Amino acid sequence: MDLPYATPQVRTTCPYCGVGCGVLARADGVGGTVIAGDPLHPANFGRLCSKGTALGETLSLDGRVLHPMMRGADGALTRTSWDAALNRIATGFRAIIDRHGPDAVALYVSGQMLTEDYYVANKLMKGFIGSANIDTNSRLCMASSVAGHKRAFGSDTVPGCYEDLDQADLVVLVGSNAAWCHPILHHRMVRNRRERGARIVVIDPRRTPTADEADLSLQIAPGTDSVLFCGLLVHLAGADAIDPDFIRDRTRDFSETLAGARRIAPDIDSVARGCDVPREHVARFFDWFCATPKTVTFYSQGVNQAAQGTDKVNAIINCHLATNRIGRPGMGPFSLTGQPNAMGGREVGGLANQLAAHMGLDAESVDRVRRFWDAPAIATHEGPKAVDLFDAVAAGRIKALWVMGTNPAVSLPRADAVRSALAALDLFVVSDVVAATDTIGAGPHVLLPAAAWGEKDGTVTNSERRISRQRSFLEPPGEARPDWWIVAQVGLHLGFGKAFDYRFPADVFREHARLSAFENDGTRDFDLSGLANISDEAYRSLKPVQWPVRDRRGGGQARMFGDGRFYTADGRARFISVAEPRLAVQPDQNHPFLLNTGRVRDHWHTMTRTGRSPRLSAHIDEPFVEVHPDDAAAAGLADGGFAEVTSPHGKAVLRVSASEGQRRGELFAPIHWNGETASLARIGGLVHAVCDPHSGQPDMKATPAAIAPASFAFEGFMLSRASIAFPQDFWWARASVEGGIATRLAANIAFDELAGLARRLLGDDGAIIEFHDNTRQVYRAARVCGDRLEACLCLAPGQRAFPGSDWLKRQLAQPRLDESSRRALLAGRPPEGAADCGPMVCACFGVGRAAIEKLIVTGAAATVESVGTLLKAGTNCGSCQPEIRRLISSNGGRTLEATA
Ligand code: SF4
Repeated sequence: MDLPYATPQVRTTCPYCGVGCGVLARADGVGGTVIAGDPLHPANFGRLCSKGTALGETLSLDGRVLHPMMRGADGALTRTSWDAALNRIATGFRAIIDRHGPDAVALYVSGQMLTEDYYVANKLMKGFIGSANIDTNSRLCMASSVAGHKRAFGSDTVPGCYEDLDQADLVVLVGSNAAWCHPILHHRMVRNRRERGARIVVIDPRRTPTADEADLSLQIAPGTDSVLFCGLLVHLAGADAIDPDFIRDRTRDFSETLAGARRIAPDIDSVARGCDVPREHVARFFDWFCATPKTVTFYSQGVNQAAQGTDKVNAIINCHLATNRIGRPGMGPFSLTGQPNAMGGREVGGLANQLAAHMGLDAESVDRVRRFWDAPAIATHEGPKAVDLFDAVAAGRIKALWVMGTNPAVSLPRADAVRSALAALDLFVVSDVVAATDTIGAGPHVLLPAAAWGEKDGTVTNSERRISRQRSFLEPPGEARPDWWIVAQVGLHLGFGKAFDYRFPADVFREHARLSAFENDGTRDFDLSGLANISDEAYRSLKPVQWPVRDRRGGGQARMFGDGRFYTADGRARFISVAEPRLAVQPDQNHPFLLNTGRVRDHWHTMTRTGRSPRLSAHIDEPFVEVHPDDAAAAGLADGGFAEVTSPHGKAVLRVSASEGQRRGELFAPIHWNGETASLARIGGLVHAVCDPHSGQPDMKATPAAIAPASFAFEGFMLSRASIAFPQDFWWARASVEGGIATRLAANIAFDELAGLARRLLGDDGAIIEFHDNTRQVYRAARVCGDRLEACLCLAPGQRAFPGSDWLKRQLAQPRLDESSRRALLAGRPPEGAADCGPMVCACFGVGRAAIEKLIVTGAAATVESVGTLLKAGTNCGSCQPEIRRLISSNGGRTLEATA
């Protein structure tokens, strides 16, 4: 595919999830970027999901950090030179190390960094500063999978590849809302189901859109995944569906593991009771698994982010080992990573309990890496994992911290405590792309401008071990620099000379590849010996390749372990006995619910990038809590009203969404909103800091919590060109719209105070037009300059402020506000004949709910396919297809007359 512009087109990789889709990008020469899926990339073959498709909308320079900044005596950050900033970091680190030792400094890095960035950061910390105090936000993503892999295989190896999705006859998804979180892979699964008749089973406490495309959905009780998979192991053995030869010749510890599984889940009845699901559903799943050799089990954060996440991973792997369904086409356990380069971080040792190139901190590995790096003071013991690392910051044991490209003041458990701890550091350094994050709000001494996606060069590794290039197609703005360069400069300023004398990312990659091959006689899985001498030109044109790459012609390996050889000392895989499944903390009278957290379809992490896109902000534009309708009724919560959700660690006020997809006694809230985008919705602030004992991964899925109604006298929203600061006691949530920002508002304020509030928020230059309805307590005001709408504010009790809000949101982008639109603004409804598209359903093609419903109720479309044919909705990544299907079924039988 060629994009329709004459400027050079670049093959790069999407910066969001672990699918690792290939992207074609091209600057259009007038400040924009044209984006398309790369048809040659084996992860996506040209498709992109809504987030990837909207990448071009996220590249503006608004809010970027453009220059190094240092905090002055007055506490304000002011511009400084690179040299001054690097000196400040180097001298600060050196002074603290001299006084308190190397374990008093730390780095906290990101799964969104490139492998080259990660490699240099890890080398500086572990090899030259001499501490393993470097951990990554990937700890929150897949650390339990890493620990589970190492226990079972002796190495952190994902055995399969994405082609297995196309070839499997049974696809099992555990703790994964792939339809929203890994849409391109989910699309492949659904296509396999449609075209080859593969079955899909979804195992998740929530009934998510992924379950809408499944043949069987098991809504298990939280934390009971291991009960299910122990029961499955017992059932496989009883049904003679195991492979005794493989178990005898290629594994160890099967008998003990089976005996342990029998204690946890002796039969189907006990599994059904333990997981709280119908017996016949368990039986059907077990029968399908027994009868289907080509089975792939995908698992994601619902498995990993748990107090027993590593055991869950091993309970799944046990079933694949018992049946010898591993490393062969269409079969295997498969960890879906959340982040674009969580896997690359694992390769270089971005985790505090790894060294580099998949080596640990054992004496032999430490010696080997020390010799390779010629490192004077290499770390010899593991460092603290993410939650412990920030506890060490809070306790004052870590006195200097450098946070790179991540937002721990939002994303970590007990996020409020993390934010407070950051503010007390002796030296706090942040390198980031955006200037306003909750972490930067904690007051760094030094803020460094990092190059963003599209501006930097390097590699990332996706969930199937495929290394792809991220290539630059934009000049870094201001003085922004790539992370690898920034870290290397600090290394040079610390006096580590030639060890950090890299010219280009290719230099770093070659060294990384050489280290993977160094004294590697086939006993280490991660091996890039075939790329160890890659030329600059070959690196520039490197095609996506799956490691290990031992072939000098650069060919990789799609699957691992098909030969039955593993990376344990004796080459055999290990069955792992898992602990009795239990919740880390039981709900009690004060906190009777379990709070689950996760993502929405069109946002990513803390929205620093996706929040810039009006398209991505249109699907869900405010933070919410999902609750079962019966629980909502019992708690006095109104669907669409507000609720205060509390845990022992914090509170949030969220819009209530009553959903049959929730189990009773459980709540779900998304992780994306933060102090920059909402007043009281930092869900990390509520999450407890319980971690898996093997992986250190926090349990983000089951925090005891309480929910109660919250009420406000007035609700509504405001449109403005820029962010507005609201009074402290207002509830608000911001979303990007074309031309500015739409803020949903709620407040306890008297009606006669609204006009004064409007003047403060909109500006008092006489250009305000107003509407008051004292009887209905409705207030609307707009500020119009010339013919252009600059801002407006609509407030009323409940949700009556402006029913046609989609039309209203579009008015900021209009070059002129005509007379009928002005009247409509104050009347609180779109002008006669103006379309209100309703909430966005298909973000890829910008199709709203109203257009889809119109087709359905007029009988013009009765299937997802026909909606796609007529509106294109759902025909790109398909992540909105479950929503279209729900609209069809909920509108079933309605007629145009009935809805008119
Ligand atoms: Fe990016 Fe979407 Fe592909 Fe993930 S599935 S890599 S977010 S385009």
